[in-house]
Parts: sequence; C-alpha cells; structure tokens
Amino acid sequence: MEQTRRPRRLRRDGVRGLVSETSLDASDLIAPVFVDATTEERVAIESMPGHERVPLSEAVARVEEVRATGVEAVMVFGIPEAKDERGSRAWASDGVVQEAVRRITAETDAYVITDVCLCEYTEHGHCGVLTSDARERWEALDSDPSPEGDAGLSEGLTVQNDETLELLARTAVSHAEAGADMVAPSAMADGQVGAIRGALDDAGYGDLPVMAYAVKYESAFYGPFRDAADGAPSFGDRRHYQMDPANRREAMTEASLDVEEGADVLMVKPALPYLDVVADVRREFDLPVAAYNVSGEYAMLHAADEKGWLDVEAAAHESLLSIKRAGADLILTYFAEDLASRL
Ligand SMILES: [Zn+2]
Repeated sequence: MEQTRRPRRLRRDGVRGLVSETSLDASDLIAPVFVDATTEERVAIESMPGHERVPLSEAVARVEEVRATGVEAVMVFGIPEAKDERGSRAWASDGVVQEAVRRITAETDAYVITDVCLCEYTEHGHCGVLTSDARERWEALDSDPSPEGDAGLSEGLTVQNDETLELLARTAVSHAEAGADMVAPSAMADGQVGAIRGALDDAGYGDLPVMAYAVKYESAFYGPFRDAADGAPSFGDRRHYQMDPANRREAMTEASLDVEEGADVLMVKPALPYLDVVADVRREFDLPVAAYNVSGEYAMLHAADEKGWLDVEAAAHESLLSIKRAGADLILTYFAEDLASRL
C-alpha cells in the first residue's frame, strides 16, 4: 500500500512526545482549599474523596500539602462561623477567609486567590441580596409552575443585582487587605467585575488582578461542592443569575462585558460540559482563560473508579488534557494535587 500521509508514523514511542500538541504542568493548576470556621478538626468531604474542610488552625498546613505536590496556587473558600440575611461575614476583617489568607500569606509562598461571593455566608444560600418577597414568590411558583401562575418572577430576580454589587466589592477589598494575591468574583451579578475593580483601585489595590467567573452556568455538576462549602440555596435555584446551559453566544456577551469592566483573567465554569465555550472564549479574547473543573466532574470519575468502571488517574489526566486542549491556560481542579504529584 502506498500512501504519502501515514499519521501512524508519528505515534511511535520516542516521537509521540515530540509531536504532542498539549501538555499539562503543575504551573497550570489551581487547587481549591476549604477553610471551615465551624470545626476544630479536618472533616472529610464524602462526595469528594481525598478532600477535606480544614479548620483555620490547619489552613497553612493544608496549603503546604498542596505546594508539596508542585502546585503553587490555591483558591480559598470559606465556611463562616455564622450566616445572616446579607452574608456579613463575607467582608468581616476577622472572617474565615480573611484570617486564613493572612496566615497562608504570612507562612507560605503560595499564590492565594479568593473566591468572592455571598452564598456561603447568607442564610438563604443565594449569591446576593434577596428581593423582600423572593421566598414567597418561589413557593407560589412551586405550587403553580404554569406561565400564567408565574408569581411575578419575571418582574424581578431572586437576587437584587445592584444592591449586591457593593457587598461583593467590600468583600473583595477585605480579601485584598488580608493579603490575597488575586480575587475571583463568582456571584454572576451584572457589573460585579467593574464594581470590584473600582473598589480595589480606590482602596489602593490597583495592582491586584481580578479573575472573573465570566461564564458561569447554572449546572447540576456543582452538587458535591455544596456539600463541601455548605452553600446550597435554601429555596429556589440560581437560574435567574447563572447562565442557561443552552447558551453559547451569550457566553461571548458575558466575557466581553467582563473584559470591558477590567477583568484580567476570564473563567468558564464548569469545564468539561462546556469545552466549546472554553474554545470560543480562547478564540475571541486575548486574556488568559481559566476553566473550573468542578466538583461533579471530580466526583463522577471517583464514583466510576470505585465501581471499577474506569481508572480515575487516567480519566482525570485525559479530562484535564482536554480542558487545556480546548484553550484553557489555567485549570482549577480538585485533581490538582493528584495530577501534579504524578507529573
Ligand atoms: Zn455564590
């Protein structure tokens, strides 16, 4: 058989690596870390094997474990000692994230990114300030989901957008004051990047970058995270502020707004079910692109591995490779430590 192009020539050992188009490195990865002000001991997160919520006293040790694998960047999430209607512990100078960041930056060389949102701090678990009758309207909607029975949800959103901006901005500034290297707003409030950029600049943090959760979908893949961070909404869902999984063009709108507002890095979340969107954002924008390989993407591989249906290490490597290949420069992943220690 004569054939000029035989792709198999380059698949032999010895040359495969030379022609490999994509590679993963520990420097691509960001490890999420959960610091819990309600516990004195590490608590295993059942739906995320290998992950724990750690008390403040273990925050530094936890980050040192991450760094020992070669991963230098962490994303800190906090579980506060108390929650209230507006989520006031989110911006408290002695809040759990602020205190953890102070300790981590004082004692390690990790690059510390903080998640900026209110859902872990509000009693209702939504990502901002609620409309006064949000609960009633959701209950009415539950009892009569027909369009005619729509209890006014079309008239107003669950979370009041503009009232939430100031609280997000305060939270971001409090993280900066504690020593965070980068802040990452995830509330999907319109204008959140601009509000945070302005507040950081006013407070003297003009050099602090913002990684925008620019394209965040309302996804079923966040389930295990809600175990981890105790941030499930107590009623309703987040479809009035997070993106509809059906929408791809709208992702470009979200990303371009965040670029205009001063985002330094654009994130797509989740990653695997949205690789088309990762590729689109990569193609359309010059900023670094991050993708969040979320808790459900992690949990399902572990669950299948436990059943003996696939090998979690190989499947995780392939998953992360696909995210990188789609165009992500940075990957937030619960596999960060496992992968890095094998690289
Ligand atoms: Zn949130």
